Amino acid sequence: MALPAAVASALGALGSVARAVDEFRPRSGQATMAHAVAVAMQTGGTLVVEAGTGVGKTYAYLVPALLSGGRVLLSTATKTLQDQLYWRDIPRLTAALGVPARTAMLKGRSSYLCMQRLGIARHDVRAIHPTAQAQLARIEQWSLSTRTGDLAELPEMDDYSPVIALVTSTRDNCIGSSCPQVQTCHVNQARRDAMAADIVVINHHLFFADLQIRESGVAELLPSAQSVVFDEAHQLNEIGVQFYCRKLSLAQLDRYALDLGKHGHLMVQSCPDWASWVVEVRQRVGRLQELCTGAEGSPYMSWSDTHPADTDEHAWSLALAQLHTALQQCEVLLRSMEELFGALKGLREHTALLMAELDVFSHPLPSGWIRWIETGRYATLVQSPRILANAIPGGIAPVHSERPNAKSWIFTSATLGHDATLTEFLESGGLQHAQVLQVASPFDYAKQAAIFVPPHFPGPSDVQHRRAVANLVVQIATTLGGRTLVLTTTLRAMREIAELLRHHILDSAEVEVLVQGESSKRELTERLRKASPDGHVPGIVLVASVSFWEGVDVPGDALQVVVIDKLPFPPPDSPLVAARSRQIEEDGRKPFQHLYIPHAAVALKQGAGRLIRHEKDRGILVVCDVRLIKMGYGRRLLAALPPMKKIETQEAFMEALEQLTRPSTTGH
Ligand code: SF4
Repeated sequence: MALPAAVASALGALGSVARAVDEFRPRSGQATMAHAVAVAMQTGGTLVVEAGTGVGKTYAYLVPALLSGGRVLLSTATKTLQDQLYWRDIPRLTAALGVPARTAMLKGRSSYLCMQRLGIARHDVRAIHPTAQAQLARIEQWSLSTRTGDLAELPEMDDYSPVIALVTSTRDNCIGSSCPQVQTCHVNQARRDAMAADIVVINHHLFFADLQIRESGVAELLPSAQSVVFDEAHQLNEIGVQFYCRKLSLAQLDRYALDLGKHGHLMVQSCPDWASWVVEVRQRVGRLQELCTGAEGSPYMSWSDTHPADTDEHAWSLALAQLHTALQQCEVLLRSMEELFGALKGLREHTALLMAELDVFSHPLPSGWIRWIETGRYATLVQSPRILANAIPGGIAPVHSERPNAKSWIFTSATLGHDATLTEFLESGGLQHAQVLQVASPFDYAKQAAIFVPPHFPGPSDVQHRRAVANLVVQIATTLGGRTLVLTTTLRAMREIAELLRHHILDSAEVEVLVQGESSKRELTERLRKASPDGHVPGIVLVASVSFWEGVDVPGDALQVVVIDKLPFPPPDSPLVAARSRQIEEDGRKPFQHLYIPHAAVALKQGAGRLIRHEKDRGILVVCDVRLIKMGYGRRLLAALPPMKKIETQEAFMEALEQLTRPSTTGH
């Protein structure tokens, strides 16, 4: 049977998926998307699908992928979705479809326990904080039983725990083939499994790493595949831009100079002047630092041409050239002595690496790239593509290419843009040739959801704004007994609002305030999901910032109100935003219309998407920013949101809240 027909049959009312998966219900949007994916996988090409919340897009690409018989790479932006696909959705569907696919999941090396570094950390245990010691003991115990070494198996482990850096490896500190643990190394095992599998779950960062390694022509990290599917594709541009961004930190150069000094006892044998060479490197770094002092209080220095703003062109190129010469002199000598003293090999390699980075900033800026300097005690030189397409000739999914990656490319997400053309998304990935499909959410937003913008609210830059947000959240949370997610645009606002809620306003046994960073995202979301609507355990107000605007899935009554503090415009002082604005101006368009509003619309759509996760959910989106109803552009932003009922007054809002406390007539 042809792939589209096989997929339609599997996802139909009497199909194999319906027979095997209890909660599965056929959905027309899902069938439409699955058909398009199956056609693309069978015939080749590039397909971009924006599939609204509730369409069931995961099955719409997994079923064709599993039935295609070819090798498929599935790439996600987050580890959470990687885990969900690998541990839950793929096993369910392989069983339902009866396909014997070999599957593997590959994450970045910082996700895997490194047994070699665990051994070292064990000996340094007294030097670390008691909480970290307890975490280390837990990791040690788990290391005896884990098969994968994937730290995600420890849900209590916060992604930002300092212990993670102690027990995982980096490219620099992995000792590779000379490692005594190499035979049982979890990173190596995961890579071997990925190379041998039919369905490989990766993340966007790894995809770019593989692309870069392939272009160097020396190796590959991932197997070649017939199809590549990117879920959470809306994050591809920013992840790719970060991946290709080059940085040279003067702090790193200063530390390197100290390292040169530490090896003086070896170097002095053939270079009696070694100490003065080291001083010279430090002086050259210091000279560069002097030139990198931007305007008082500004975190960035712009760099639009051959040299940074406010520096003399000649002085700048001279400082770069002199530093390069000083490094080169050291590199030549280190090279001549590394055979004699093996300990110098790493230092010589580090020197070569720094020279290569310095070269990047000495050459003319490639078209479509920008440079700037992050100022501070030590400056950092930065070079970044303006958008991802500027870093990958031919785009992510080339039509005609030597790149043997794939013949079909699928990009999907619940939110890829604010309009029907998805122009920004296509441009950013170089995907203008793609076929675009938009599948609407099956939810009845007009019945299930409402939006409220408090009309008499302090403006977003008013000093009373955060207090007013906190007061409103108290009203909501005490009426509902928690069930609220507060999404802020900055970490500072998050902390202030959480503090106000906790210490000055909300101090009740019925409602507990959780804040991003106090535990892992997975654990915080789980606690919100499990909060009991019947009052047996305290209800939850979760206060979080940017990373919770997406990827939080809490269906049911545990989450009934999402509060957004301000319209999520991009920060105008960010060098990337400024560069994108300049480009739009050069194209004869207006940055506010073509960058700031689209960006805010997409982010608002993502934040609002946390509210209704099931056809029986009910809820209210509260946006504490009067610009949404008072400014002309507010209409455009509202139009990008699902068609929710509008609540105009505080009284109507309180009434709507009360209604949420009554049992739903549709009920879960
Ligand atoms: S090979 Fe590298 S990552 Fe693997 S155990 Fe050894 S040091 Fe760790």
